[in-house]
Amino acid sequence: CPLGPALLFVKTSQGKEEGRRFYACSACRDRKDCNFFQWEDEKVSETRLAAREEYNRNHQPPFTHRQNVERYKNFVLLPLSKRRFCQECQQLLLPAEWEEHSDHQFLCDISTAQLKTPSKLLYPLENKKTNAQYLFADRSCQFLLDLIVALGFRRVLSVGTPRLHEMIQTKASQEEDFRVRSLLLDIDFRYSQFYTEDEFCHYNMFNHYFFGGEAACETCRKFLYQDKGERVIMVTDPPFGGLVEALASSFKKLMAMWAETEKVGHNNPEMPMFWIFPYFFESRILEFFPSFSMMDYQVDYDNHALYKHGKTGRRQSPVRIFTNLAPSMIVLPVEEGYRFCALCQRYVSSGNQHCELCNSCTSKDGRRWKHCVLCKKCVKPSWFHCSNCNCCALQNHSCEKAAAGCFVCGKAGHKRTTCPSLSHT
Ligand code: SAH
Ligand code: ZN
Ligand code: ZN
Ligand code: ZN
Ligand code: ZN
Repeated sequence: CPLGPALLFVKTSQGKEEGRRFYACSACRDRKDCNFFQWEDEKVSETRLAAREEYNRNHQPPFTHRQNVERYKNFVLLPLSKRRFCQECQQLLLPAEWEEHSDHQFLCDISTAQLKTPSKLLYPLENKKTNAQYLFADRSCQFLLDLIVALGFRRVLSVGTPRLHEMIQTKASQEEDFRVRSLLLDIDFRYSQFYTEDEFCHYNMFNHYFFGGEAACETCRKFLYQDKGERVIMVTDPPFGGLVEALASSFKKLMAMWAETEKVGHNNPEMPMFWIFPYFFESRILEFFPSFSMMDYQVDYDNHALYKHGKTGRRQSPVRIFTNLAPSMIVLPVEEGYRFCALCQRYVSSGNQHCELCNSCTSKDGRRWKHCVLCKKCVKPSWFHCSNCNCCALQNHSCEKAAAGCFVCGKAGHKRTTCPSLSHT
């Protein structure tokens, strides 16, 4: 499909496989956004293949990345008064193109500062579940960058983190002794208007597909090559509705790319990584990356009604950092209430109490959890032990048999697509 190789799916019902397997779009979960569909065992005629290729060609962006780089060079030569950005087409306009966009809304006097912060110029994509863009609040972005610098990394592979990428790029152009570099991999092609082919690759993280072909893949490989011992870390913040197994498979391929470029002297066999994702995906992520652990730090977003900083009285962000680095090295800001637990050897949130019985700081959501002797583990403060279900649950739950639950949160009564944990508004 236009987004690269499709993924092979199988329908399951109550954990049992059902019927034929089929290919569908890797990135769009809604058939309205991409209707690619093919049975696994389906024979596809030459005519249909040709039609498909034609369709895919027609669904590529109007300009290539190379063309966009050229356009940018011309754009920055223009005086401020001639620098326009079409808000409808999400495109920098050259004077010869004004006419075509005359009935579109546009911004004028696009400054160099604006060109350096494209995540503020472009509107966040919100239409599709899988392509929803939630941009880091400045506080969280700054924290991530400070952490990366403190840990001694010099290169950041930014996978779906345009705001972190732009913070690094901006700092690198302003401060001479700031030596961190970043390569952005993202499916949002609008960013190709602002970055060269060495700074941005159009990439699909659900199927590890480089739209720019072998050349783009090579750019990424080169970037991962740790020149002069410049250490690399990958930071990713995928859409929360994304399939964890597809993401994990792509990230393993990026890790393999890094490992191939490896030279002598690594004692860490895995590329260091921060995977930013909601805490309720912890077990899914650990399934694929057993070396990872979840940090207590709550990642906040600018354009997210719910996941803003806890102190404003809103709900606390459920988004965390998963990493394969030693938890003791991830220093969380004491001024925001995080403290170091000497027993767990990691920073935890202020409400997270060390449980003697579990021998760990057990809270996942920042609230103080309580230990249930019958379940032999800590549970949410709002839960009570139900002797019917033989486990802890909300007081007003309806005692159901352990029916095949939602893939995301494990609860019964809904599927992953309608999981309330994923609803954003
Ligand atoms: N918090 C991050 C943005 C996260 S939003 C920041 O502020 O930098 C998710 C990001 O992943 C978006 O930039 C979106 O364009 C990108 N994305 C969504 N689907 C993708 C896919 N299939 N492949 C690659 N990137 C994708
Ligand atoms: Zn326009
Ligand atoms: Zn502890
Ligand atoms: Zn406990
Ligand atoms: Zn219990």
